[in-house]
Amino acid sequence: MAFIEINKNNLLHNIDIIQKTSNKEICAVIKDNAYGHGILQIAKILQEVGIKRVCVRNNMEAKLVQPFFEEILVFFPELTYNGMNISYTISDLKSLKKCRHKKIHLKFDTGMHRNALSLENLDEILEMAFKKFEVKGVFSHFCCSDEVGNDTFIQLQRFKELKNKVVEFCKKNNYEIPKFHIANSDAIFKLPKSDLFDYVRPGIALYGGMKNENLKPVMSLWGEAIKVMEIKKNQYVGYNKKYKFEKDTKVTLIDLGYSDGILYFDKELSLKETKAVGKISMDSVSVIGEYKKVCIFDDVREFVKNYPYTITYDILTKLKPNIKRVVV
Ligand SMILES: *Cc1c(COP(=O)(O)O)cnc(C)c1O
Repeated sequence: MAFIEINKNNLLHNIDIIQKTSNKEICAVIKDNAYGHGILQIAKILQEVGIKRVCVRNNMEAKLVQPFFEEILVFFPELTYNGMNISYTISDLKSLKKCRHKKIHLKFDTGMHRNALSLENLDEILEMAFKKFEVKGVFSHFCCSDEVGNDTFIQLQRFKELKNKVVEFCKKNNYEIPKFHIANSDAIFKLPKSDLFDYVRPGIALYGGMKNENLKPVMSLWGEAIKVMEIKKNQYVGYNKKYKFEKDTKVTLIDLGYSDGILYFDKELSLKETKAVGKISMDSVSVIGEYKKVCIFDDVREFVKNYPYTITYDILTKLKPNIKRVVV
């Protein structure tokens, strides 16, 4: 059976790098099944090394990892009360009014224009939020931290101004000052420590999926042989005869297809040691050579080069949860 290997040492190595680079508390982003790595497997390792805070996508994910952490920040929460150690992201006025859960982080738009509160209504929002909720955090998200350019610095400036206003508001009204956080993976490596505020929120850096040679890939994906075939010269393999063999060739059919989340391809795909050939099928694909098991990738940064239109995040998060995750 196909499986995913989680390299624990590499994850620990990445955490160490992030810790040393940022010198801040890590709020590890484990949304979307920990970027496909397996949310429970990753949560256990994070807990072992003393990570206290994580970000998840929804209440379902929060519930899964609730035993492992002090605080779980839900990016897209239900608005009902929840008794557990969970904080909800508030990113619009309607949720601010409707939310029944006490612990929240306010998410402000500093330039991403996606899903966050507008700074225009700041006074009104702060009045309402601090009166009604326990505001544990105030945060924002960068739109372009993976680029060179001014955008990150403009957003950073807005966030600093926001922080000053919130701190002033809290002091004036005797509220506890919340934690501030804005840095995703790219920002952690780009900005000086002094611009990283209280928490950092690394996602892809944890998993070694970004361009940074100091980070190591955590996931490798393996298929197992269904059978080995001998394909003759001038024969083809798979649907629509997309790949023709120039000579007699041993080919292994393995038990992974596009239904497992491998992105579609219709002729060939470079793997670590060999290549996959023909159109990928729903539940299987052929690779050149005779194997018991085949590594599809052990560094998503290399594998992504097969696909000019996508990113490492996409490849990782598409891998279905039913593939067995093994920590090694
Ligand atoms: C996904 C996400 C992150 C992590 O981003 P990376 O680029 O993977 O580090 C951080 N903050 C928010 C709000 C996110 O949605």
